[in-house]
Amino acid sequence: MEHEHVRGVDPVVADALEDEVGRQRDTLSMIASENHASEAVLEAQGSALTNKYAEGYPGERYYAGCEYADEIESLAIDRAKELWGAEHINVQPHSGTQANMGVYFAMLDPGDRILSLDLSHGGHLSHGHPANFAGKLYDVSHYEVDPETGYIDYEDLRETARAFDPDIVVSGYSAYPRAVDFEQVQEAAESVNAYHLADIAHITGLVAAGVHPSPVGIADFVTGSTHKTIRAGRGGIVMSSEEHADAIDAAVFPGSQGGPLMHNIAGKAVGFAEALEPEFEEYAARVVENARALGEALVARGLSLVSGGTDTHLVLCDLRDSHPETAGGDVEGALEDAGIVLNKNTVPGESRSPFNPSGIRAGTAALTTRGFDTEACDEVGELIARVVDSPEDADVRGEVSEAVDRLCERHPIYE
Ligand SMILES: *Cc1c(COP(=O)(O)O)cnc(C)c1O
Repeated sequence: MEHEHVRGVDPVVADALEDEVGRQRDTLSMIASENHASEAVLEAQGSALTNKYAEGYPGERYYAGCEYADEIESLAIDRAKELWGAEHINVQPHSGTQANMGVYFAMLDPGDRILSLDLSHGGHLSHGHPANFAGKLYDVSHYEVDPETGYIDYEDLRETARAFDPDIVVSGYSAYPRAVDFEQVQEAAESVNAYHLADIAHITGLVAAGVHPSPVGIADFVTGSTHKTIRAGRGGIVMSSEEHADAIDAAVFPGSQGGPLMHNIAGKAVGFAEALEPEFEEYAARVVENARALGEALVARGLSLVSGGTDTHLVLCDLRDSHPETAGGDVEGALEDAGIVLNKNTVPGESRSPFNPSGIRAGTAALTTRGFDTEACDEVGELIARVVDSPEDADVRGEVSEAVDRLCERHPIYE
């Protein structure tokens, strides 16, 4: 990838951009929220639409000159409807957090109650963490996963809902490896007359491909990110029934955003077109198979997974049983040194600090995009386990790093 125009103006940034492409090419991207967007998506996101103000929605903009913005946003909406089957879709949220903000602003007043999964059990900041706007504006309580099984404790969810009387119940998570039972969450929400927001940020691609159950038609609102497993332009999306369409649209613009990022919406349209191709279903199925293979490889080498395995693109490894002296942050750093980029993560019942917690989280969405199969993911599991066993051993890191180089060469991206 050349950045010749940038280089002409700013060689420092051009170098850093090229270094970043090199970094993605030469390391294993295993941060579960990341992927490698196609060059078609990158081109759309880097287009002249970055110049255009298009406040409003297709056919009802506040400024002139929106004919192509209208065409592109309408395509993004139509394709999203085909992918997820929702009645109404807003593709303008700048991010997944903004998508959640759109739903909260549409349906809640400040001080209303949100019930969501605890952050250390796999929830997301925008589900009501005290440091996030949602935690500051609303009254928040949490349900948890069952500490024995690692699965969502739907009984705890029902009981907490009864006691707390929430206005909205949030399902959908950042570090939860198992399929979500949206029907059970819906029942719990309905039993206390609360709305149900299913935030499928991580699994948008898996849901679109039908390899994870869909909350569309069950939950009142579905939000997602568009750059994780779906691999489109960066940003967020809100889905709802027609009944809530006007409230959602008004809450996104002008409620919480100004002009839409039309270049990102173009990236969403292009990525959604790619996801409508039959190959995308195969891709999503392989993502899950690869995560299973990765998880099995880790377990075979003595590591423990939260819930014992995965139904999705991610595995969450709890180091407390197998490596009680080793923290997630130490492993993250050692793995990065060896070319494997994943993240430290809290685990249910966390006993260490969130800055150096007891777990690591790894996803297979990006590796699968560059062609990794189950055999390659088994090898990756073995490499991760070797570093976890000896995070301080520079020789091990060196050997792992050579194996990573060979894997990257066999699975090229952005040539
Ligand atoms: C990633 C994620 C989001 C969106 O995050 P942004 O960084 O704001 O795009 C929202 N909810 C969940 C559960 C997530 O994992």
